[in-house]
Amino acid sequence: MASVRCEGVVKNFGDVRVLNGIDLDIQDGEFIVSVGPSGCGKTTLLRLIAGLEKITEGSIYIGGERVNDVPPKRRNIAMVFQNYAIYPHMTVAENISFGMKIRGSSKADMEIAVNTVATILGLTDLLHRKPKQLSGGQRQRVAMGRAIIRDPAVFLMDEPLSNLDAELRTQMRVEIKSLQRRLRTTTIYVTHDQVEAMTLADRIAIMKDGEIQQFDIPDELYSKPSNKFVASFIGTPQMNFLKAERSSERELTLSNGGRMVIPPLHEGAIAKLAKIEVGIRPEQVRIADDFPSQDSAGSVRWRSSVNLFEALGSETIVHFGSSDNVLKVKVGREIKIMEGDDIDLVFDIDSAYFFCGDTGVCVGHALKG
Ligand code: ATP
Repeated sequence: MASVRCEGVVKNFGDVRVLNGIDLDIQDGEFIVSVGPSGCGKTTLLRLIAGLEKITEGSIYIGGERVNDVPPKRRNIAMVFQNYAIYPHMTVAENISFGMKIRGSSKADMEIAVNTVATILGLTDLLHRKPKQLSGGQRQRVAMGRAIIRDPAVFLMDEPLSNLDAELRTQMRVEIKSLQRRLRTTTIYVTHDQVEAMTLADRIAIMKDGEIQQFDIPDELYSKPSNKFVASFIGTPQMNFLKAERSSERELTLSNGGRMVIPPLHEGAIAKLAKIEVGIRPEQVRIADDFPSQDSAGSVRWRSSVNLFEALGSETIVHFGSSDNVLKVKVGREIKIMEGDDIDLVFDIDSAYFFCGDTGVCVGHALKG
């Protein structure tokens, strides 16, 4: 096991800068997920840590050693990729022990190691099979086995589950998490799936355009996003954003027509903004009829028409307003409203977020919710 530290890491491909000063301090044994939209630089960062690409500027340390000039095979890392690259003509056992064979390990040592890894991964009864006789999840476990048998200081995993169907992904997610808990090997895992990131990670690095937007534990990313990008990336459906104008020193008028008393704690920060946006999560907006006694100064109330329903089984997402200005609300399945209905909606001001309309920086977090 080892810590991993990136200091001011920059990567250019020709004239194009794809990583712009990455700072990451990963503790020994942590499970870190790097998440972000396609092309933001997640895989490049992993490849730099692995030593498969040279960094342009900055430093990378593994276990306290600066590894900028250390070749991949001396970095003591193991990678698991999306295309898990197991050899079709070899059995599971041969696939798992392939690296040891190349390094000239004895047959007896290989057998002990393969049996240990197979027990950890539940592959003991499948050791004699060829990959084509395995399910997708079992093949992915073989790929994990090839990484584990090396007993590396760090696992680097690049979208290892993206070839699997939804059900298997969920199952393998649990397996990877419990495996990492058991082995406690420092792990850096790349995905573009925020649910995968939230469920797996001790801490998540959210990336955009070659920069880390926020590096934090999942709950803090949800409750205290540093900017609009993070706020909209974490949470399903994503946070609603409403443009706001200051109608008086203490009050905002929102683009949905609602009026909002500014929470005293955020007054100073909001007063400095030329443009303001208010964020509210779909799970924090309620149908007002269900909450008739809501305190009017502590809440925002407005009327809107039902545009569309998304029934998800245990809950329903209702789209209010016109299609180019939708506000999504998460409700229970017993909802008794119809498309076209005009409904009073309400949210508590303490569940709102405040963003600078120019930079997207979050200047005030929800005080509740
Ligand atoms: P995805 O989720 O789609 O895999 P990513 O976040 O992992 O995306 P990277 O693969 O790291 O993104 O790529 C970041 C940027 O660098 C992209 O714009 C990509 O086109 C560019 N890039 C990656 N490798 C090279 C290369 N060898 N030469 C030139 N540009 C590259």
